[in-house]
Amino acid sequence: MFDAVTLPDTSLAERQNILLVDDHLANLVSLEAILSDCGATLLTAATGEAALDLLYLHDVSLVLLDIQLPGMDGYEVLRTMRSQPRTQQIPTLFVTAYSRDEPAIVHGYNTGAIDYILKPVNASILRGKVAQFLELDHTRRSLQNAYSRLAQQKAYYESMLNAADEGVLGLSAEGRVDFANPTALRLLAADPERLLGHSFIEIGHSNEIGPQVHWEQTVFYRYWKARRALHLTDTQLQRLDGVPLPVALSSAPLAGDNGGSVIVFQDISYHKQLEQQLRQQAVTDPLTGLNNRHGFKQALAAGLRRAARANCHLALYFIDLDHFKDINDSLGHDSGDQILGTVAERLRLAVRANDTVSRLGGDEFTVIIDDMETPEYAALVARKMLQALAKPFWHAEQSLSLSASIGIAMFPDNSMDSDKLMLAADLAMYRAKNTGRNTFEFFTPELNIRAKARLMLEQGLRQGLEQQEFLLYYQPQYATDSLQLSGVEALLRWKRKQSSMVMPAVFVPLLEQTGLINTVGEWVIAQAAQQRRLWREQGVLPDDCPLAINLSPRQFESDGLLPALTQAIEQNQLLPMMLEIELTEGMLMKDSPSNSSTLSALRQQGVRLSIDDFGTGYSSLAYLMQFDIDALKIDKSFIDRIAISEKDAAITTSIIQLAHNMQLQVVAEGVETQAQQKILSQLGCDFLQGYLYAQPMPAAQMADFVQQQRHLTKKG
Ligand code: C2E
Ligand code: CA
Ligand code: CA
Repeated sequence: MFDAVTLPDTSLAERQNILLVDDHLANLVSLEAILSDCGATLLTAATGEAALDLLYLHDVSLVLLDIQLPGMDGYEVLRTMRSQPRTQQIPTLFVTAYSRDEPAIVHGYNTGAIDYILKPVNASILRGKVAQFLELDHTRRSLQNAYSRLAQQKAYYESMLNAADEGVLGLSAEGRVDFANPTALRLLAADPERLLGHSFIEIGHSNEIGPQVHWEQTVFYRYWKARRALHLTDTQLQRLDGVPLPVALSSAPLAGDNGGSVIVFQDISYHKQLEQQLRQQAVTDPLTGLNNRHGFKQALAAGLRRAARANCHLALYFIDLDHFKDINDSLGHDSGDQILGTVAERLRLAVRANDTVSRLGGDEFTVIIDDMETPEYAALVARKMLQALAKPFWHAEQSLSLSASIGIAMFPDNSMDSDKLMLAADLAMYRAKNTGRNTFEFFTPELNIRAKARLMLEQGLRQGLEQQEFLLYYQPQYATDSLQLSGVEALLRWKRKQSSMVMPAVFVPLLEQTGLINTVGEWVIAQAAQQRRLWREQGVLPDDCPLAINLSPRQFESDGLLPALTQAIEQNQLLPMMLEIELTEGMLMKDSPSNSSTLSALRQQGVRLSIDDFGTGYSSLAYLMQFDIDALKIDKSFIDRIAISEKDAAITTSIIQLAHNMQLQVVAEGVETQAQQKILSQLGCDFLQGYLYAQPMPAAQMADFVQQQRHLTKKG
């Protein structure tokens, strides 16, 4: 900003003017002749008034003035000239016939005339004097010019300095402030008295200048000494009231050996603020690409709203790596960062895409799952994360092992508030650390127990699958009129080692949730088909007695179902009608293309199809018609009350009638009393199943049981 400026140069290129004043034409002519080659332009006037007029019109360097003039005399002209700024300075030479000692001359000096010359004029004296005066005038003009240029320049710089947005400080060679523009004063909250003459260190003590150093120790001094410019794009000064002022600053040495330096600085508080704001608004952690703390907070708030709306549980996991500091210390931060990147990746893969994984900083991560149906499920996910982190980490061709401690807090179970939930998860994480790391803990002990029990159950299920702890029990069905065996239902059991039999109500939902149901379900199909063949071979079951298999919704949607069924039928050389598949109303009502194609494929295969638990779901018989079903199984809850509730009896009656109208057979489940049997018989129910006839039993028992029954029915 201190580029040299070119100011208009009012140079002396024009010729100088000399004004000759005399009322005698002859005198004027002779003066003109004498001065014809003096280099100046000659102007002439015969009266004082004419002389003054010319003086106004022209820039005159010298006046040769006759004293005795008609009207206004020479003295009068001179006085008038001296009273006007424009003509005040013009040198005037009296041309007079008076002698030097006469009072008239003295009078002339008093009015400011510079010299006189006597008539008759001596040509060489006149030329000499005129040359002298012109030379003087020239010098005066040059000086005046230079002066006015300086004044202009000063005004220019001043206005620039005053208007500048930058603060400008002039420093002496000793580092004292000897100039400050208004912006500098404003930015430094200083008045000139307090600032000028003080050492720059007082305001400059900042990142660059410690508080107690000498001027000679500062970077500003070093650069100044080396005659180099210094640029600091992000530093700070200290205002006189002590408040730090972030600035971009440059310092440049001034010309001259002992010229100080000029410091120009710009207030960058606004940029800093903006930068800070941008930093805060960023939601991504640059190292892992996960959410940062800010992003996490937003995600948690949004997740809580979503969970509340959908009436779901939200699980918040606080994950802290165990002994991560050791890795950082031994391998260095870069390696630590790489491992954190891998941790982030593994956590992301351990959860579903719409769950939110964040890194709060350091080795702290969080996961938000906002659509959890049961809090117990949260434990399964935690274990999945621990397993994902338990795999060895490869770094620089060596294998490292890592573990984490996880704290879990649940909404709405533990808190509805995001901060409290975070605190709860954090506390739970510390408990996990204290429990011995590589584990997870829930915030509340009650949740902890439930979740852990469930986890053990799930672990047990997997183990059970491996160690063949599942088995099938069978419950016979009978024709209502003859009480002859008409079919058998296969019911799943889990016999855990050294423990009692576990019933499907406990473990089937868990198999569903974990997806294990598909594996177990395929086993059930294979096992049931094999049993059906054995019973066929042993003559336990006649060919028209189907063996019924239960399906769960997830199984119904699985691609493995049909191949498993086909394979089971083929391998055991069964007629398809020897197997029956029990569906639920829900499966049929869920209107998806894959469901209806599964259904028609089953139909084509020729297995019998029945609807289980009928009456508890949608119960739209008309709708069911289109699925081409063989039988309905009226739910046990109706049968239970059939003898005591007229309403239940009425419902059962109409179900049976409607089913028969549509050529469907009807099975009653859970028949326990003779009374129930009697009513069902009267209503024309086709088949009966229940404890009244037999409880579900192992296959081995079934043969004896059937044998015995035949014997009885034959006898009876
Ligand atoms: P479900 O299909 O309705 O099976 C009938 C249930 O009623 C069986 O319970 C049976 O033992 C019970 N039951 C039969 N007669 C009586 C009676 O007179 N009184 C009483 N109180 N109960 C009777 P279980 O074996 O505990 O099975 C429960 C449910 O588990 C089944 O209900 C079925 O939905 C499911 N399940 C059983 N085995 C399998 C399987 O292999 N796969 C699938 N996906 N689900 C199965
Ligand atoms: Ca069933
Ligand atoms: Ca049932």
